[in-house]
Amino acid sequence: MTSMQRKPIRPLPPTLISQIAAGEVVERPASVVKELIENALDARARRIEVRIQQAGQRLIEVRDDGFGIPADELALAVSRHTTSKVEKPEDLFHISTLGFRGEALAAIGSVSRLTIISRPPDAPTGAMIQVEGGNIRGPVRPTAAPIGTTVRVEDLFFNVPARRKFLKTPATERRTIDEVVLRYALAYPQVRFRLEHDGRLTLHTDGSGQEHQVLVAIFGPRTAQRMLPVLYEDGNVRIRGFISQPDLHRSHSREMRFFVNGRPVHDPALLRAVLQGYHTFLMKGRYPLVVLFIEMPPDGVDVNVHPTKAEVRFRNPDAIFRAVQHSVRKALLAHSPLTPTPVTEWDIVDTSGRLRPIPWGIKSESEQESSREVLPEARVSDPGEKPAGFLEALSPASSPPLESSQEASLIEGPLLRLVGQIAATYLVAEGPDGLYLIDQHAAHERVLFEKWMRQQRTGHIPRQPLLEPAVVHLAPPQARLLEGYLETLTQWGFEVEAFGPNTFRVRALPAILAHGDPKAALLALVDDFEENETPLARDLEARLVARICKRLAVKAGQSLPREAQERLLQDLLDCENPRTCPHGRPTMIHIPVDFLERKFGRRGP
Ligand code: ADP
Ligand code: MG
Repeated sequence: MTSMQRKPIRPLPPTLISQIAAGEVVERPASVVKELIENALDARARRIEVRIQQAGQRLIEVRDDGFGIPADELALAVSRHTTSKVEKPEDLFHISTLGFRGEALAAIGSVSRLTIISRPPDAPTGAMIQVEGGNIRGPVRPTAAPIGTTVRVEDLFFNVPARRKFLKTPATERRTIDEVVLRYALAYPQVRFRLEHDGRLTLHTDGSGQEHQVLVAIFGPRTAQRMLPVLYEDGNVRIRGFISQPDLHRSHSREMRFFVNGRPVHDPALLRAVLQGYHTFLMKGRYPLVVLFIEMPPDGVDVNVHPTKAEVRFRNPDAIFRAVQHSVRKALLAHSPLTPTPVTEWDIVDTSGRLRPIPWGIKSESEQESSREVLPEARVSDPGEKPAGFLEALSPASSPPLESSQEASLIEGPLLRLVGQIAATYLVAEGPDGLYLIDQHAAHERVLFEKWMRQQRTGHIPRQPLLEPAVVHLAPPQARLLEGYLETLTQWGFEVEAFGPNTFRVRALPAILAHGDPKAALLALVDDFEENETPLARDLEARLVARICKRLAVKAGQSLPREAQERLLQDLLDCENPRTCPHGRPTMIHIPVDFLERKFGRRGP
């Protein structure tokens, strides 16, 4: 054991104090971006330009056209606990600016090489100050500059290697930066935002003040169109923003964004309140897209809870949560989701290259070909083996074993006879042992899943070129993610290429998905990438495919033409595991004849 000798108490050296403090404020490049954007907004900027190099490790530059910092205050601006935003203790309870702690610039300067160039509107010229690892370098110098402020942060954490080690992959750090810029762009539609990564423009809003424009810039026109407006007032609390229609949801809550008085906040209670508002509209485990602005008098909320100011404390939390829940409920009810889904025809490109509408379930020629090609011979050509597997899979353990004569006759004809479709959601079929109710969505998921996995095993996934490449717009964070996987997607039968900032062009889909919506397929992929940074590991493949199949499977509530019903039933019976969907939910419910007879009193209980 090493003996620890007591050392005398001493004050910490000032640079160490600021480094320790900096740790709380500046955790990663995105925290710098956040603080600098907040400063620009507090300076009433109308334009904010963010330039990033190497995911923020090399450079973070934020340029604004706000009211600037006078030359003689530059040295103060970079010192600790200096601010122009609060003066007296009471001010802390009426904060109307984003900053107030007076420590961001000092913290940033203590862990980077910081340059600030600023020029207030009434100054004839700009002035510049430089800080390196907490020490001011040289005097404040005059320099040519446009009105406003430019803050350059170079070599972040150059003097704190431990910090640098804790950074995530560049892709993750970039995504976190995107998320920060995106949030402020949402909250300040009247400000023009531009974000550049390594010289590439990845996000920009027009500053027109129209929130819907920002939604379009960030989510793309199709998603933006599916957002419902929220507007609700209750006493001093005003809630406005957008929430997604019940049919637009995610497997994670990262797209639920909350703002309190223009400040992005994290608050699990707000999230719960929204989910309560969605009660019965959304399945368990699914999360809506939400952009909610909660506004109240500054003294209704304490923002001085945490150094990053991302947590807040409401003076009257119950009232806030109630209001949020009601506002969501009201928006959902105002939107009438009861319009039936009429689509049973999808456009499929046939091999001649013409676009023709064909009913769901009838394969395009190329797909017919591909399934011929990939079906393992043994399964089709050995009729003795196949139905045995089927019967086992299709008959509940409790039902009596079938007579061998019955089994023989089943080999010839179809195993189940289709009766029809009910509630535009279930197929009804008759089997030798009773009635089957089949969930068309779950069944189709299973069918797509097995076809794809079969193709995957053969190492060749037939692809279906789209006659018209589909242009898909993704939110910047998702776009960054997808970019990393374009190569891999090729192996999966996709052909996707980058096509402008945050936009991708889908040229081909795996043939098996050719009837589906290319955007839905891409989003399903990205969803998965988001949850897992190495999504293509072998064991994750099936899960990913399952997810895409779910997204593209025929939905409940779609009435299917007879041929499509037949085809689905047959395809399901051709599956190795016809009884459950890839996620494990049942595809069918069996009602034995026996049960019917008892219910109708034909047989004793
Ligand atoms: P805080 O924002 O909490 O006051 P900061 O360390 O972030 O603390 O900034 C210190 C001071 O520098 C601010 O109070 C403000 O007066 C000034 N300042 C910082 N950035 C800007 C900017 N972009 N435009 C104008 N003034 C700024
Ligand atoms: Mg600040």
